[in-house]
Amino acid sequence: MTAATEPANPGWTEGGAAIVFQRCNACGAKQYFRRAFCHACGSTELSVLSAEGTGTVYAVSHVTRAPTPEARAHGPYTIVLVDADEGFRLMAHGAHDLAIGDRVSATFNRFIDGLVPYFERTTS
Ligand SMILES: [Zn+2]
Repeated sequence: MTAATEPANPGWTEGGAAIVFQRCNACGAKQYFRRAFCHACGSTELSVLSAEGTGTVYAVSHVTRAPTPEARAHGPYTIVLVDADEGFRLMAHGAHDLAIGDRVSATFNRFIDGLVPYFERTTS
């Protein structure tokens, strides 16, 4: 993790190849979705951090009917919920053979017109 008020590199939702999250400077709570305040205590003192990209699979869903013509070109694909080691949960793409409880690590794949996190099983 890299502590900073601004991300060291932009998160994937901003076109970068990084997973970023917020940590509350007052209570330590973590949140993945950007907010102007902490979801736990309401403080506006938040740090933006880069995640290591490692975690544990919480849920797996295989998408065989993509929602848009652009996404159909990538199908079928797998969507996963991952509990990041830093303590927040995120939705991302993943390998087809992932299962709940797998330890995973992220790379970034091109999807439609941007980069998205893509998780694969790690050996550890
Ligand atoms: Zn807080």
